Amino acid sequence: MSDNKPWEFTCKTCGGHKLTVSHVWTILAGPESESWQEWGPLEANHFWRFEFKEKVEEDEDDEVERGDFGEFAEDDSASKPEEYEKFEQESDPESDEFYVNCASCDREIEFGWSEPNRGGRIFPVECSDFIPGEIWPEPRYLNSWQHKGWLRSGGDQQ
Ligand SMILES: [Zn+2]
Repeated sequence: MSDNKPWEFTCKTCGGHKLTVSHVWTILAGPESESWQEWGPLEANHFWRFEFKEKVEEDEDDEVERGDFGEFAEDDSASKPEEYEKFEQESDPESDEFYVNCASCDREIEFGWSEPNRGGRIFPVECSDFIPGEIWPEPRYLNSWQHKGWLRSGGDQQ
């Protein structure tokens, strides 16, 4: 653990020090849509590197569990994480979601961006170098940050 990170993170739940960045998006595949996710570590410079990618199985929403059919539900080989490989597909930017989680216990950590419109680098709020008021919130946390008084002053956030 001697890499010179300019910031530190210590999970208040599990004591972990690493963060994982995930990107989840939906693509239209014929009449259906599929969700995919890719994830990897947040690095010292606040950039991240996606190392894995997999299809998100939607088994928790409207599908009621019907015991007998369980064995047909999954065919597995495709559902394991695989080494990340780049490939391009039509994606819908509106559906993109980003998450930052503790790499050890998976607790979601709020984060923001160094530039507007999810640009630049990722700054999780629990990192030691997070400076409220200088980071653009991930849109999901806008309300939460507004309550905390963390929004940039003089910005044009809606
Ligand atoms: Zn943790």
